[in-house]
Amino acid sequence: MPTIPETLRVDPGRLWEDFQNLSRFGRTQEEGVSRPAFSAVHLQARAWFRERVLAAGLKFSVDGAGNHSARLDCALPAAGKHARVLLLGSHLDSVPNGGRYDGALGVLAALEVLRVIKDAGLALPVDLEAIDFSDEEGTLLGLMGSRALAGKLTRAELAAPRGGRQALLEGLGRAGLDEAGLLTANRSVQQVSGYLELHIEQGPRLKSQGMQIGVVTAIVGISSYRLVFTGRADHAGTTPVQDRLDAAQGAAAFILEARKLVLQQFPGCVANVGLLVLEPGAYNIVPQRAVLGFECRSASMGELERLEAALLAQAQHEAQRYNLGLEAELLSRHAPAMMSVKVQDAIAGAAEALGLAHTRLASGAGHDAQSLASLCSSGMIFIPSQEGGSHSPREHSTWQDCLNGANVLLGATLRMALQQMDQTI
Ligand SMILES: [Zn+2]
Repeated sequence: MPTIPETLRVDPGRLWEDFQNLSRFGRTQEEGVSRPAFSAVHLQARAWFRERVLAAGLKFSVDGAGNHSARLDCALPAAGKHARVLLLGSHLDSVPNGGRYDGALGVLAALEVLRVIKDAGLALPVDLEAIDFSDEEGTLLGLMGSRALAGKLTRAELAAPRGGRQALLEGLGRAGLDEAGLLTANRSVQQVSGYLELHIEQGPRLKSQGMQIGVVTAIVGISSYRLVFTGRADHAGTTPVQDRLDAAQGAAAFILEARKLVLQQFPGCVANVGLLVLEPGAYNIVPQRAVLGFECRSASMGELERLEAALLAQAQHEAQRYNLGLEAELLSRHAPAMMSVKVQDAIAGAAEALGLAHTRLASGAGHDAQSLASLCSSGMIFIPSQEGGSHSPREHSTWQDCLNGANVLLGATLRMALQQMDQTI
């Protein structure tokens, strides 16, 4: 394997200036950002990104899904016209009233890596592309740009998008896009050699373990269910407590037992009841129906299925205990996305070379990398989140951690690119 230029580093001043400038788009009073996908401020942030790409002397392009790309044609002549591209990226959109780091850091660090490699005049076996994916956060569809690129979007999803059909069409219109384009943005494994994403952890684990870099092993799978406990509506004043068929009792017992079950039997997994509606929903009527929405997550498909089965058995048990009917409906199930072991090793090697303490861990949150994992060798680098807060203006990572992450992205990029050399030349 050719020698890896280990002394290359990102330019801290240039990256800091970009980070500060980008944070102005959609800045909130609490120093967070609100940049929902294809909102006016999001489009302004993207226009600013385009300027930065052109100022760096890189090629700028937009695909049918509105993914914005900077490309560095640095492939060796031996790779010819058919050089594959190594993608580095994340997203510039945010949740409403979100933080400055989520997604933004990954896109800016990707751009910075391209600038450093361009400035160094390196020729690699692959071209490099820094990409800002459309609608990662789900204002319209969720992971829209990355799934479009991986060929994972379906017409059925576009017909019933998470944010509503009208919002999707209007958003696409504002960005100068259309549905047909979304379905033609897919790329093939002949075009893409791999994907790397730098992101904040959005949780407390790295900080609590005193780690500087997280090497992501998998992105959790998520299953969502709707449960309906059915009892009988009765007068809340005249019906003796022991004679009631109170749907709320079953729901409440399930919520409490679900927590115990996860804590005692499924370490590493999570479950969340995020929706609870009691019907008819009046102070003086015994609840006839309790509708619950819950999801559970695990980095292992087998574990996810066992957890789902255990939760459903628990719901059945509570229904029997309170003489209630129970309906359970699976709404969606997304399998865990495994990160490539080769890419994990490239990230760990880069962290090692920089003397950074690193550990392997699964991501409990969804990311663009899970879409790419179905197309090519993919990996993610996490840096610690202070206080663990994310999707809020409290989101914060130290600047040193951001720089460490960007330098690991650079080192891992070089390692992955040079591994590519082994395969093709
Ligand atoms: Zn993100």
